[in-house]
Amino acid sequence: MKLTVIGSVALDSIETPFGKQKEVLGGSATFASVSASFFTPVSLISVVGSDFPGKYIRMFKKRNIDTSGLEQKKGKTFRWKARYHYDLSYAETLSTRLNVFTGFRPRIPASVKPEDNLLLANIDPELQSYIFHQIRPGGIVACDTMNLWIERSRRSLLKLLKKVDLFLLNDAEARQLSGETNLLDAARYISDKGAKMIIIKKGEHGALVFSGGLRFMVPAYLLEKIKDPTGAGDTFAGGMLGYLSQKSKITDSVLRKSLVYGSILASFAVEKFSVEGLLKATRRDIDRRYRHFEKLTRF
Ligand code: AMP
Repeated sequence: MKLTVIGSVALDSIETPFGKQKEVLGGSATFASVSASFFTPVSLISVVGSDFPGKYIRMFKKRNIDTSGLEQKKGKTFRWKARYHYDLSYAETLSTRLNVFTGFRPRIPASVKPEDNLLLANIDPELQSYIFHQIRPGGIVACDTMNLWIERSRRSLLKLLKKVDLFLLNDAEARQLSGETNLLDAARYISDKGAKMIIIKKGEHGALVFSGGLRFMVPAYLLEKIKDPTGAGDTFAGGMLGYLSQKSKITDSVLRKSLVYGSILASFAVEKFSVEGLLKATRRDIDRRYRHFEKLTRF
């Protein structure tokens, strides 16, 4: 099954304790598409400005990511500036410039089919909802978000949750959205709002899934060196959805494995700035880490 990904394509300026990079490729849809492309063909729906380097579009195409839904508009590309301190789980946002995203209402290309799975990667819930209604998807619908949108667009997000099969967010966002401190209570709150499967990402501490009677947790892959945690969550979501798109049915076992693949893909993303770590990885590297992950967690 193909996967459609919508979300931000950005130029990020990032500072971590291990280095600094200015205006490099980022965005939720970028990380998610590159990650999912290891498993399944991807259609990307997003917008960039006239300043967006052509080499990044060529990179998407090379990875079998269909860019017919990636519009290039007059104006500036979305920009995000952030700083991480030694606690890499928290990004201090220095600025968010929506630029060409302001008022963006995409055309859905003919190559995007309603039966494809849909990942609404992190972006304004109003835009996620607009695209949902344009596509009227029949496959799995997954949705990711972040603190800014919970603060600014809470009502639209809660409305969208009713239509979502799989909702991903991090632990701080789950607490923020639900007003609960305990993550089981937070998951119950989100499930009452309509999401069928809930994934709570916990950065270097892994991720939890709640789905019907299933509760399952995976650790993050154990790494020697982390350079830049930007995009870990989006990469996790892309890896999960890419893997799920290969399967005809989501059983509990498939869902558990998809979390493991999400963790493994995220481990490549955080080893380098931007998408460099993901671009260097091969399918063999992923399989090697999968086997190592099994060894690390079996008891
Ligand atoms: P993550 O580290 O997975 O939470 O995501 C980081 C990526 O999200 C960066 O590459 C940013 O360009 C992008 N991003 C940051 N803020 C927003 C926002 N408000 N909406 C959409 N994407 C964002």
